[in-house]
Amino acid sequence: MRRLDQLLANLGYCSRREARAFLKTHAVTHRGAPAADPSLKVRAADVLVDGEPLDHPDGLLLLLHKPTGLVCSHDPREGPNVYSLLPERWRARNPQVTSIGRLDKDTSGLLLLTDQTALVHRLTSPRHKVPKTYRVTTDKPIPPGLAALFAAGTLVLQGEAAPCAPAELRIHGPATADIVLTEGRYHQVRRMFASQGCAVVTLHRTHFGPLDLAGVEPTRWRELPLGMFG
Ligand code: URA
Repeated sequence: MRRLDQLLANLGYCSRREARAFLKTHAVTHRGAPAADPSLKVRAADVLVDGEPLDHPDGLLLLLHKPTGLVCSHDPREGPNVYSLLPERWRARNPQVTSIGRLDKDTSGLLLLTDQTALVHRLTSPRHKVPKTYRVTTDKPIPPGLAALFAAGTLVLQGEAAPCAPAELRIHGPATADIVLTEGRYHQVRRMFASQGCAVVTLHRTHFGPLDLAGVEPTRWRELPLGMFG
């Protein structure tokens, strides 16, 4: 049981301070009876707002097709962000909807978003080695031997002590490949290629574990079941 004002605020309907006014201007019911008292203790499933059940009261897990040009940070100083693609009510939720790991501003592709803080920590922990696949195009032909180098797990990036974990490189054309990483260091794909004299021109994440972007257009998302990562 939670206070009605807290529940509405956490789900992005209004701030806690605005709850009393929200209850006056919206038809909010609790077990069928009008609810006017913000301090009423309620179960989310018993509340309707304007005749509708509450918006995802148990949480959100989204698979977003990130376009280039948007950052994953919430800090407005870093520019337009991926959260601007979501409905306003989802953006106002507390806990905040946030990305599970990050993609660079210039990277497109599959990005998971959630308000489940524990899930963010679990899936971004170095212990959770979920494979992520990226389609890469480069400014010059991919050097021979790159697949063997990445697979060896010996490549040390500038400024780092530990070598990158072994990564699979599947070459599709002279300047096109897929790379599968099981870790997520800062600008990792770009830095791995740059270390061998190749600039990454485009970078697109196609898979996160078994998940792909089938049927999800750029800027759009699909919902995933909350329990899908156990
Ligand atoms: N590696 C990068 O360099 N950038 C990303 O966005 C993801 C992986």
